[in-house]
Amino acid sequence: MAQRVPGFETLAIHAGAQPDPATGARITPIFQTTAYVFNDTEHAASLFGLQAFGNIYTRIMNPTQAVLEERLAALEGGTAALAVASGHAAQMIALHTLMTSGDNFVSARQLYGGSINQFGHSFKNFGWEVRWADAKDPASFASQIDARTKAVFVESFANPAGYVTDIAAIAKVAHDAGVPLIVDNTMASPYLLRPIEHGADIVVHSLTKFLGGHGNSMGGVIVDGGTFDWSASDKFPMLSQPRDEYAGVVLHETFGNFAFAIACRVLGLRDLGPAIAPMNAFNILTGIETLPLRMQRHCDNALAVAEHLKAHPKVDWVEYSGLADHPNHAMQEKLSPNGAGAVFTFGVKGGYEAGVKFVESLEIISHLANIGDTRTLVIHPASTTHRQLSDEQRAAAGAGNDVVRLSIGIENVADIIADIDQALDKTG
Ligand code: PLP
Repeated sequence: MAQRVPGFETLAIHAGAQPDPATGARITPIFQTTAYVFNDTEHAASLFGLQAFGNIYTRIMNPTQAVLEERLAALEGGTAALAVASGHAAQMIALHTLMTSGDNFVSARQLYGGSINQFGHSFKNFGWEVRWADAKDPASFASQIDARTKAVFVESFANPAGYVTDIAAIAKVAHDAGVPLIVDNTMASPYLLRPIEHGADIVVHSLTKFLGGHGNSMGGVIVDGGTFDWSASDKFPMLSQPRDEYAGVVLHETFGNFAFAIACRVLGLRDLGPAIAPMNAFNILTGIETLPLRMQRHCDNALAVAEHLKAHPKVDWVEYSGLADHPNHAMQEKLSPNGAGAVFTFGVKGGYEAGVKFVESLEIISHLANIGDTRTLVIHPASTTHRQLSDEQRAAAGAGNDVVRLSIGIENVADIIADIDQALDKTG
Protein backbone atom coordinates (compact mmCIF):
# COMPACT_ATOMS: atom_id res chain seq x y z
CA MET A 1 0.00 0.00 0.00
CA ALA A 2 1.29 3.45 -0.88
CA GLN A 3 2.31 5.48 2.17
CA ARG A 4 -0.59 7.78 3.08
CA VAL A 5 0.12 11.28 4.36
CA PRO A 6 -1.75 11.44 7.68
CA GLY A 7 -4.40 14.14 8.06
CA PHE A 8 -4.22 16.85 10.72
CA GLU A 9 -6.70 15.03 13.00
CA THR A 10 -4.56 11.86 12.86
CA LEU A 11 -1.33 13.76 13.57
CA ALA A 12 -3.01 15.48 16.55
CA ILE A 13 -3.46 12.05 18.15
CA HIS A 14 -0.47 10.04 16.91
CA ALA A 15 2.45 12.26 15.85
CA GLY A 16 5.53 11.56 17.95
CA ALA A 17 3.91 8.84 20.09
CA GLN A 18 4.30 5.07 20.19
CA PRO A 19 3.29 2.49 22.78
CA ASP A 20 5.96 2.59 25.49
CA PRO A 21 8.59 -0.03 24.48
CA ALA A 22 9.37 -0.94 28.11
CA THR A 23 5.81 -1.46 29.41
CA GLY A 24 3.41 -1.45 26.46
CA ALA A 25 1.60 1.57 27.93
CA ARG A 26 -0.49 3.03 25.10
CA ILE A 27 -0.51 6.57 26.44
CA THR A 28 2.82 8.43 26.62
CA PRO A 29 4.00 8.07 30.24
CA ILE A 30 4.81 11.04 32.45
CA PHE A 31 8.57 10.63 32.80
CA GLN A 32 8.81 12.21 36.23
CA THR A 33 12.59 12.04 36.48
CA THR A 34 15.29 14.65 36.72
CA ALA A 35 18.16 12.68 35.18
CA TYR A 36 19.00 9.59 33.09
CA VAL A 37 21.63 6.88 33.65
CA PHE A 38 24.50 6.86 31.14
CA ASN A 39 25.59 3.54 29.56
CA ASP A 40 29.22 4.39 30.33
CA THR A 41 31.56 7.38 30.37
CA GLU A 42 32.03 7.33 26.61
CA HIS A 43 28.24 7.53 26.14
CA ALA A 44 28.10 10.45 28.60
CA ALA A 45 30.89 12.25 26.75
CA SER A 46 29.17 11.83 23.37
CA LEU A 47 25.90 13.23 24.77
CA PHE A 48 27.63 16.23 26.36
CA GLY A 49 29.61 16.87 23.17
CA LEU A 50 26.48 16.80 20.91
CA GLN A 51 27.91 13.79 19.02
CA ALA A 52 24.87 11.69 20.04
CA PHE A 53 21.24 12.55 20.82
CA GLY A 54 19.91 11.37 24.17
CA ASN A 55 18.61 12.31 27.56
CA ILE A 56 20.94 13.93 30.07
CA TYR A 57 18.94 16.10 32.44
CA THR A 58 15.29 17.29 32.43
CA ARG A 59 16.23 20.98 32.27
CA ILE A 60 17.38 20.23 28.72
CA MET A 61 15.07 17.41 27.60
CA ASN A 62 12.61 14.80 28.84
CA PRO A 63 10.89 11.91 27.01
CA THR A 64 7.31 13.18 27.66
CA GLN A 65 8.39 16.61 26.45
CA ALA A 66 10.00 15.01 23.37
CA VAL A 67 6.67 13.52 22.23
CA LEU A 68 5.01 16.90 22.67
CA GLU A 69 7.77 18.53 20.60
CA GLU A 70 7.50 16.01 17.77
CA ARG A 71 3.72 16.39 17.68
CA LEU A 72 3.87 20.19 17.53
CA ALA A 73 6.53 20.17 14.82
CA ALA A 74 4.26 17.86 12.78
CA LEU A 75 1.15 19.98 13.32
CA GLU A 76 2.91 23.22 12.37
CA GLY A 77 4.83 21.69 9.44
CA GLY A 78 8.21 22.47 11.01
CA THR A 79 11.43 20.44 11.19
CA ALA A 80 11.76 20.31 15.00
CA ALA A 81 10.45 21.97 18.15
CA LEU A 82 11.42 22.85 21.70
CA ALA A 83 8.80 22.83 24.46
CA VAL A 84 9.37 25.16 27.42
CA ALA A 85 7.62 26.30 30.60
CA SER A 86 5.36 29.03 29.17
CA GLY A 87 4.61 31.12 26.10
CA HIS A 88 6.74 33.92 27.52
CA ALA A 89 9.65 31.52 27.97
CA ALA A 90 9.30 30.50 24.30
CA GLN A 91 9.54 34.13 23.19
CA MET A 92 12.55 34.78 25.42
CA ILE A 93 14.47 31.70 24.24
CA ALA A 94 13.65 32.20 20.55
CA LEU A 95 14.95 35.77 20.67
CA HIS A 96 17.92 34.87 22.90
CA THR A 97 19.17 32.60 20.10
CA LEU A 98 19.14 35.54 17.66
CA MET A 99 20.00 38.62 19.70
CA THR A 100 22.87 40.08 21.65
CA SER A 101 22.99 43.29 23.64
CA GLY A 102 22.60 46.29 21.30
CA ASP A 103 20.46 44.39 18.77
CA ASN A 104 16.84 45.17 17.97
CA PHE A 105 13.76 43.40 16.63
CA VAL A 106 10.66 44.83 15.00
CA SER A 107 7.30 43.75 16.42
CA ALA A 108 3.70 44.43 15.51
CA ARG A 109 2.12 46.57 18.21
CA GLN A 110 -1.09 44.51 17.87
CA LEU A 111 0.06 42.08 20.57
CA TYR A 112 -0.94 40.35 23.80
CA GLY A 113 -0.46 42.94 26.60
CA GLY A 114 1.96 40.66 28.49
CA SER A 115 4.19 40.48 25.40
CA ILE A 116 4.15 44.28 25.11
CA ASN A 117 5.48 44.39 28.69
CA GLN A 118 8.03 41.61 28.14
CA PHE A 119 9.39 43.21 24.96
CA GLY A 120 9.30 46.84 26.12
CA HIS A 121 10.51 46.44 29.72
CA SER A 122 12.24 43.18 30.64
CA PHE A 123 13.97 42.64 27.30
CA LYS A 124 15.28 46.20 27.52
CA ASN A 125 17.31 45.03 30.53
CA PHE A 126 19.04 42.49 28.25
CA GLY A 127 19.98 45.35 25.90
CA TRP A 128 17.43 44.18 23.32
CA GLU A 129 15.44 47.00 21.76
CA VAL A 130 11.91 46.44 20.45
CA ARG A 131 10.73 48.70 17.63
CA TRP A 132 6.98 48.87 17.13
CA ALA A 133 5.26 48.60 13.75
CA ASP A 134 1.67 48.34 12.55
CA ALA A 135 0.47 44.80 11.66
CA LYS A 136 -1.91 46.43 9.14
CA ASP A 137 0.98 48.07 7.26
CA PRO A 138 3.91 45.82 6.18
CA ALA A 139 5.89 48.88 5.05
CA SER A 140 5.96 50.13 8.65
CA PHE A 141 8.17 47.10 9.49
CA ALA A 142 10.55 47.82 6.61
CA SER A 143 11.12 51.39 7.75
CA GLN A 144 12.20 50.25 11.26
CA ILE A 145 14.78 47.66 10.15
CA ASP A 146 18.51 48.48 10.30
CA ALA A 147 21.84 46.60 10.41
CA ARG A 148 21.27 45.53 14.06
CA THR A 149 17.76 44.14 13.43
CA LYS A 150 17.68 40.39 14.09
CA ALA A 151 14.01 39.41 13.73
CA VAL A 152 10.47 40.48 12.92
CA PHE A 153 7.68 39.37 15.28
CA VAL A 154 3.89 39.25 14.77
CA GLU A 155 0.87 37.38 16.12
CA SER A 156 -1.14 35.39 13.54
CA PHE A 157 -4.44 36.47 15.12
CA ALA A 158 -3.58 39.38 17.40
CA ASN A 159 -4.80 39.23 21.01
CA PRO A 160 -7.29 40.62 22.02
CA ALA A 161 -9.23 41.76 18.94
CA GLY A 162 -8.22 38.87 16.67
CA TYR A 163 -6.75 40.94 13.80
CA VAL A 164 -5.56 38.45 11.13
CA THR A 165 -2.05 39.41 10.01
CA ASP A 166 -0.94 39.22 6.37
CA ILE A 167 1.93 36.83 7.20
CA ALA A 168 3.21 36.48 3.62
CA ALA A 169 3.56 40.25 3.16
CA ILE A 170 5.45 40.68 6.44
CA ALA A 171 7.61 37.58 5.75
CA LYS A 172 8.70 39.24 2.51
CA VAL A 173 9.76 42.39 4.37
CA ALA A 174 11.76 40.30 6.87
CA HIS A 175 13.41 38.15 4.20
CA ASP A 176 14.30 41.16 2.03
CA ALA A 177 16.24 42.40 5.07
CA GLY A 178 17.87 38.99 5.72
CA VAL A 179 16.09 38.34 9.04
CA PRO A 180 13.60 35.64 10.10
CA LEU A 181 9.90 36.14 10.77
CA ILE A 182 8.67 34.81 14.14
CA VAL A 183 4.91 34.29 14.40
CA ASP A 184 3.07 33.78 17.69
CA ASN A 185 0.32 31.38 16.59
CA THR A 186 -1.32 31.02 20.03
CA MET A 187 -4.69 32.54 19.15
CA ALA A 188 -5.19 30.59 15.90
CA SER A 189 -3.53 27.25 16.71
CA PRO A 190 -2.20 25.13 13.83
CA TYR A 191 -5.71 23.76 13.26
CA LEU A 192 -6.78 27.13 11.85
CA LEU A 193 -3.54 28.52 10.44
CA ARG A 194 0.00 27.23 9.85
CA PRO A 195 2.29 30.29 9.56
CA ILE A 196 5.24 28.35 8.04
CA GLU A 197 3.07 27.69 4.96
CA HIS A 198 2.79 31.47 4.55
CA GLY A 199 6.49 32.27 4.94
CA ALA A 200 7.15 32.32 8.70
CA ASP A 201 10.52 30.86 9.77
CA ILE A 202 9.81 30.30 13.46
CA VAL A 203 6.48 29.73 15.23
CA VAL A 204 5.97 30.23 18.96
CA HIS A 205 2.97 29.37 21.10
CA SER A 206 1.62 29.70 24.54
CA LEU A 207 0.54 26.05 24.94
CA THR A 208 -1.34 27.26 28.01
CA LYS A 209 -4.20 28.32 25.69
CA PHE A 210 -5.93 26.36 22.90
CA LEU A 211 -3.32 23.60 22.43
CA GLY A 212 -3.54 22.46 26.07
CA GLY A 213 -7.08 23.71 25.88
CA HIS A 214 -8.40 23.00 29.38
CA GLY A 215 -6.95 25.79 31.50
CA ASN A 216 -4.87 23.39 33.60
CA SER A 217 -1.21 23.62 32.51
CA MET A 218 1.34 26.24 31.53
CA GLY A 219 3.58 25.59 28.54
CA GLY A 220 5.19 27.12 25.50
CA VAL A 221 6.84 25.93 22.31
CA ILE A 222 9.25 27.12 19.63
CA VAL A 223 8.83 25.43 16.24
CA ASP A 224 11.71 25.62 13.76
CA GLY A 225 10.39 26.02 10.20
CA GLY A 226 13.73 24.85 8.83
CA THR A 227 13.45 27.55 6.18
CA PHE A 228 16.01 30.16 7.18
CA ASP A 229 19.64 30.21 6.05
CA TRP A 230 21.49 31.12 9.26
CA SER A 231 24.85 31.17 7.49
CA ALA A 232 23.89 33.63 4.73
CA SER A 233 25.24 36.52 6.83
CA ASP A 234 27.20 37.04 10.03
CA LYS A 235 24.08 38.27 11.84
CA PHE A 236 23.45 35.04 13.80
CA PRO A 237 26.74 33.96 15.42
CA MET A 238 25.10 31.45 17.82
CA LEU A 239 24.17 29.43 14.75
CA SER A 240 26.92 30.20 12.27
CA GLN A 241 30.05 30.43 14.48
CA PRO A 242 31.94 27.67 16.39
CA ARG A 243 30.75 27.10 19.96
CA ASP A 244 33.59 26.79 22.48
CA GLU A 245 31.56 24.77 24.98
CA TYR A 246 30.82 22.13 22.31
CA ALA A 247 34.41 21.68 21.06
CA GLY A 248 34.00 24.14 18.20
CA VAL A 249 30.76 22.70 16.76
CA VAL A 250 29.01 25.09 14.31
CA LEU A 251 25.33 24.43 14.98
CA HIS A 252 23.99 25.34 11.53
CA GLU A 253 26.67 23.31 9.77
CA THR A 254 26.09 20.27 12.01
CA PHE A 255 22.30 20.31 12.37
CA GLY A 256 21.18 21.91 9.08
CA ASN A 257 17.50 22.71 8.86
CA PHE A 258 16.77 22.05 12.54
CA ALA A 259 19.75 23.99 13.91
CA PHE A 260 17.55 26.74 15.34
CA ALA A 261 15.58 24.29 17.52
CA ILE A 262 18.85 22.69 18.67
CA ALA A 263 20.38 26.08 19.52
CA CYS A 264 17.29 27.05 21.52
CA ARG A 265 17.69 23.82 23.53
CA VAL A 266 21.45 23.46 24.00
CA LEU A 267 22.15 27.16 24.56
CA GLY A 268 18.92 28.98 25.51
CA LEU A 269 17.10 26.36 27.59
CA ARG A 270 20.33 24.96 29.02
CA ASP A 271 21.43 28.36 30.35
CA LEU A 272 18.20 30.28 30.98
CA GLY A 273 16.40 27.26 32.42
CA PRO A 274 12.59 27.49 31.93
CA ALA A 275 11.97 23.75 31.34
CA ILE A 276 8.42 22.45 31.01
CA ALA A 277 7.23 20.14 33.81
CA PRO A 278 6.70 16.56 32.52
CA MET A 279 3.18 16.56 34.01
CA ASN A 280 2.32 19.71 32.06
CA ALA A 281 3.74 18.22 28.86
CA PHE A 282 1.47 15.20 29.44
CA ASN A 283 -1.64 17.33 30.07
CA ILE A 284 -0.96 19.41 26.96
CA LEU A 285 -0.40 16.28 24.83
CA THR A 286 -3.78 14.97 25.99
CA GLY A 287 -5.38 18.31 25.15
CA ILE A 288 -3.91 18.35 21.64
CA GLU A 289 -5.65 15.06 20.78
CA THR A 290 -8.98 16.92 20.64
CA LEU A 291 -7.68 20.22 19.23
CA PRO A 292 -9.43 19.88 15.84
CA LEU A 293 -12.83 19.15 17.44
CA ARG A 294 -12.50 21.81 20.09
CA MET A 295 -11.17 24.50 17.79
CA GLN A 296 -13.98 24.07 15.28
CA ARG A 297 -16.57 24.31 18.06
CA HIS A 298 -14.79 27.38 19.52
CA CYS A 299 -15.04 29.08 16.11
CA ASP A 300 -18.66 28.10 15.45
CA ASN A 301 -19.75 29.26 18.91
CA ALA A 302 -17.75 32.50 18.68
CA LEU A 303 -19.32 33.42 15.34
CA ALA A 304 -22.82 32.79 16.70
CA VAL A 305 -22.11 34.90 19.81
CA ALA A 306 -20.50 37.71 17.76
CA GLU A 307 -23.49 37.84 15.40
CA HIS A 308 -25.86 37.92 18.37
CA LEU A 309 -23.93 40.75 20.05
CA LYS A 310 -23.80 42.73 16.80
CA ALA A 311 -27.60 42.90 16.81
CA HIS A 312 -27.90 43.55 20.56
CA PRO A 313 -29.32 46.94 21.64
CA LYS A 314 -26.87 47.21 24.60
CA VAL A 315 -23.79 46.70 22.42
CA ASP A 316 -22.07 49.52 20.49
CA TRP A 317 -19.65 47.53 18.36
CA VAL A 318 -18.17 44.04 17.85
CA GLU A 319 -14.59 43.45 16.65
CA TYR A 320 -14.47 39.91 15.18
CA SER A 321 -12.89 39.14 11.82
CA GLY A 322 -15.36 36.27 11.34
CA LEU A 323 -18.19 38.76 10.79
CA ALA A 324 -18.92 39.06 7.07
CA ASP A 325 -18.76 42.88 7.07
CA HIS A 326 -15.52 43.12 9.09
CA PRO A 327 -12.69 44.89 7.15
CA ASN A 328 -10.32 42.00 8.00
CA HIS A 329 -12.81 39.27 6.94
CA ALA A 330 -11.28 38.60 3.50
CA MET A 331 -7.83 38.00 5.07
CA GLN A 332 -9.39 35.68 7.68
CA GLU A 333 -11.14 33.65 4.97
CA LYS A 334 -7.92 33.44 2.97
CA LEU A 335 -5.57 32.40 5.81
CA SER A 336 -7.98 30.63 8.13
CA PRO A 337 -10.96 29.31 6.16
CA ASN A 338 -12.18 27.08 9.03
CA GLY A 339 -12.96 30.05 11.26
CA ALA A 340 -11.83 33.21 13.02
CA GLY A 341 -10.97 31.74 16.41
CA ALA A 342 -12.57 32.13 19.81
CA VAL A 343 -11.33 35.47 21.09
CA PHE A 344 -12.82 38.85 20.27
CA THR A 345 -13.84 42.17 21.79
CA PHE A 346 -17.03 44.19 21.94
CA GLY A 347 -18.10 47.56 23.32
CA VAL A 348 -20.81 47.60 25.96
CA LYS A 349 -23.05 50.70 26.04
CA GLY A 350 -22.57 52.67 29.28
CA GLY A 351 -18.73 52.53 29.41
CA TYR A 352 -16.74 51.63 32.53
CA GLU A 353 -19.67 51.12 34.93
CA ALA A 354 -21.56 48.97 32.44
CA GLY A 355 -18.43 46.88 31.76
CA VAL A 356 -17.96 46.19 35.48
CA LYS A 357 -21.66 45.38 35.95
CA PHE A 358 -21.59 43.03 32.95
CA VAL A 359 -18.64 40.90 34.11
CA GLU A 360 -19.94 40.78 37.67
CA SER A 361 -23.40 39.60 36.53
CA LEU A 362 -22.25 36.63 34.45
CA GLU A 363 -23.09 33.22 35.88
CA ILE A 364 -21.62 30.51 33.58
CA ILE A 365 -18.91 32.66 32.05
CA SER A 366 -15.77 33.03 34.22
CA HIS A 367 -14.20 36.44 34.90
CA LEU A 368 -10.43 35.83 34.71
CA ALA A 369 -7.20 36.59 32.85
CA ASN A 370 -6.87 33.73 30.39
CA ILE A 371 -8.03 32.57 26.96
CA GLY A 372 -8.34 29.22 25.22
CA ASP A 373 -10.13 27.17 27.87
CA THR A 374 -13.09 24.85 27.16
CA ARG A 375 -15.01 27.31 29.35
CA THR A 376 -16.14 30.72 28.11
CA LEU A 377 -13.97 33.40 29.72
CA VAL A 378 -14.36 37.16 30.01
CA ILE A 379 -12.28 40.12 31.06
CA HIS A 380 -12.97 43.85 31.26
CA PRO A 381 -9.45 45.23 30.67
CA ALA A 382 -10.21 48.76 31.94
CA SER A 383 -11.04 47.50 35.46
CA THR A 384 -8.37 44.77 35.57
CA THR A 385 -5.27 44.46 33.34
CA HIS A 386 -5.29 48.14 32.28
CA ARG A 387 -6.65 49.59 35.53
CA GLN A 388 -3.55 51.69 36.32
CA LEU A 389 -3.75 53.63 33.03
CA SER A 390 -5.55 56.91 32.30
CA ASP A 391 -8.68 56.93 30.09
CA GLU A 392 -6.55 58.21 27.17
CA GLN A 393 -3.85 55.55 27.67
CA ARG A 394 -6.49 52.81 27.86
CA ALA A 395 -8.11 53.97 24.63
CA ALA A 396 -4.71 54.04 22.88
CA ALA A 397 -4.00 50.47 24.05
CA GLY A 398 -7.34 49.25 22.66
CA ALA A 399 -8.57 48.78 26.22
CA GLY A 400 -11.10 51.63 26.38
CA ASN A 401 -13.60 51.77 29.25
CA ASP A 402 -16.32 49.98 27.26
CA VAL A 403 -14.13 47.15 25.89
CA VAL A 404 -14.98 43.59 26.94
CA ARG A 405 -12.88 40.61 25.76
CA LEU A 406 -14.49 37.20 25.39
CA SER A 407 -12.81 33.82 24.83
CA ILE A 408 -15.75 31.71 23.73
CA GLY A 409 -15.75 28.15 25.03
CA ILE A 410 -17.27 24.94 23.75
CA GLU A 411 -20.37 24.85 25.96
CA ASN A 412 -23.87 24.79 24.44
CA VAL A 413 -23.98 28.07 22.52
CA ALA A 414 -27.56 28.88 23.57
CA ASP A 415 -26.40 28.75 27.20
CA ILE A 416 -23.50 31.12 26.49
CA ILE A 417 -25.82 33.58 24.76
CA ALA A 418 -28.44 33.35 27.53
CA ASP A 419 -25.77 34.16 30.15
CA ILE A 420 -24.53 37.14 28.13
CA ASP A 421 -28.09 38.41 27.63
CA GLN A 422 -29.03 38.26 31.31
CA ALA A 423 -25.79 40.08 32.23
CA LEU A 424 -26.29 42.76 29.56
CA ASP A 425 -29.85 43.30 30.87
CA LYS A 426 -28.34 44.28 34.24
CA THR A 427 -26.05 46.96 32.74
CA GLY A 428 -28.88 49.53 32.89
N1 PLP B 1 1.06 34.96 23.40
C1 PLP B 1 -0.26 35.17 23.48
C2 PLP B 1 -1.02 35.53 22.24
C3 PLP B 1 -0.93 35.09 24.70
O1 PLP B 1 -2.24 35.34 24.76
C4 PLP B 1 -0.17 34.77 25.87
C5 PLP B 1 -0.82 34.71 27.20
O2 PLP B 1 -1.96 35.09 27.35
C6 PLP B 1 1.21 34.56 25.74
C7 PLP B 1 1.79 34.64 24.49
C8 PLP B 1 2.07 34.23 26.92
O3 PLP B 1 1.86 32.91 27.26
P1 PLP B 1 2.10 32.31 28.75
O4 PLP B 1 1.05 32.93 29.62
O5 PLP B 1 1.93 30.83 28.55
O6 PLP B 1 3.47 32.71 29.15
